[in-house]
Amino acid sequence: MSEKDKGHREYHSESRMIHGDFHSKHWDYSDHIIPPISASTAYRLESASRGAKGFLSFANPEFNRRTQEPIYIYDRLDEPTRSMLEDNLARAEGGECGVCFASGMAAICASLCVVAKAGDTVLAHHTLYGCTYSLMTNWLPRFGINIKMINAGDPDNLATLLTDEVMVVYCETPSNPILELVDIAALRGLVDEANSHRSEDRKVKIVVDNTFATPFAQRPISYGADIVVESITKNVGGFGTDMGGAWIGPKAMEPDVMLFRKDFGSPLAPKAAWPPLVYGLPTLALRSRQQMSTALKVARFLEGHPAVKLVNYPGLASYPQRDLAKKQMIDPDGNFAPGIMIYFELKGGLEEARQNGRKMMDYLADNALCVTLAVSLGQINTLIEHPSSMTHAPLPVEAQLEAGVHPGGIRMSIGLERAEDIMGDLEDALAAL
Ligand code: PLP
Repeated sequence: MSEKDKGHREYHSESRMIHGDFHSKHWDYSDHIIPPISASTAYRLESASRGAKGFLSFANPEFNRRTQEPIYIYDRLDEPTRSMLEDNLARAEGGECGVCFASGMAAICASLCVVAKAGDTVLAHHTLYGCTYSLMTNWLPRFGINIKMINAGDPDNLATLLTDEVMVVYCETPSNPILELVDIAALRGLVDEANSHRSEDRKVKIVVDNTFATPFAQRPISYGADIVVESITKNVGGFGTDMGGAWIGPKAMEPDVMLFRKDFGSPLAPKAAWPPLVYGLPTLALRSRQQMSTALKVARFLEGHPAVKLVNYPGLASYPQRDLAKKQMIDPDGNFAPGIMIYFELKGGLEEARQNGRKMMDYLADNALCVTLAVSLGQINTLIEHPSSMTHAPLPVEAQLEAGVHPGGIRMSIGLERAEDIMGDLEDALAAL
């Protein structure tokens, strides 16, 4: 084995996002610089005994798919391109292993259903992406899983809510769309206290959706999260070409997560795993630094605009949870990394602000080059949307207000355009209100 094979050096996280491991058990790397895209739904099995061994080893806790030669059988079980992305994502998040899904929602669904069963309760921080809210309120209760919306930022209340039926505490931090933070380390302390009275199989798990921050700006497992879920459709993928989701967590849970993915049929397609593997993750650090530098300029511009009531951006001095942001949102080198998302509210009463939000979206859709009216986030294009009418429409109006989503709230995801051009488009749109 050469020195290079041993990977003897402690490389920076962003270099590892480009190279992954020197050699992967999932593929023979001797010929490739770029990880190959594989496209085979089924795999040739040289003998019945190899086939039998493959089935025996799939999702078997005795078999470590990172250290043993894989026996691929069928794409829905496991396959090499996706496996390489899973390894690189797990490394970026500082988790033991990763399992990739067809979308962020599929990963979120797996993270809850593998831990909670009928009769159990999920405590969810009340500000959530609309489809996550819909999954929790429309679907999981049909399977006997109870959901309670809570304020995870209120430790006294939370301690009393951690009753015996609770199996998961779930949050987004920063939350979609208002960019509220949850203190993961404080949550860990409360959950540890509750877990100290519980058997191993009834320990509460903390699940954090890291979509907004990405592993560049925050690694929730390092603060005590058990599981990270994220939509890699967003800034991990980075170019808006492919959907995907990731579950990152402890090795002991991986077999169940793989079984869930197999039986519910939601693996990430290898063709969709390849762009985040070769373009997305390798450029995440570079893109994020540029996007964050622009986001700060845009947030300051909005903060100074007379039509804007408030701006939430963790990089602003006025951000209400500034100390927590500086502790929790840091890049792998320890620099403050306030992210690429901005939330702001237009002035006016509820109905006036809602109408102005829609008017602003329409103006941008008709006139702007650099600010595109679209949902999703984390692309090289700057995207803007009106959560109350769009991404958070699944929440009834009372739930929107409870979650802090104002009818005049606007969510922006900063891209790679020049800051002056983004601000120019916003200036025109605000002037037209
Ligand atoms: N989590 C958050 C915070 C999101 O914003 C989204 C999508 O916007 C998702 C999860 C779901 O991801 P996907 O669209 O890849 O299913």
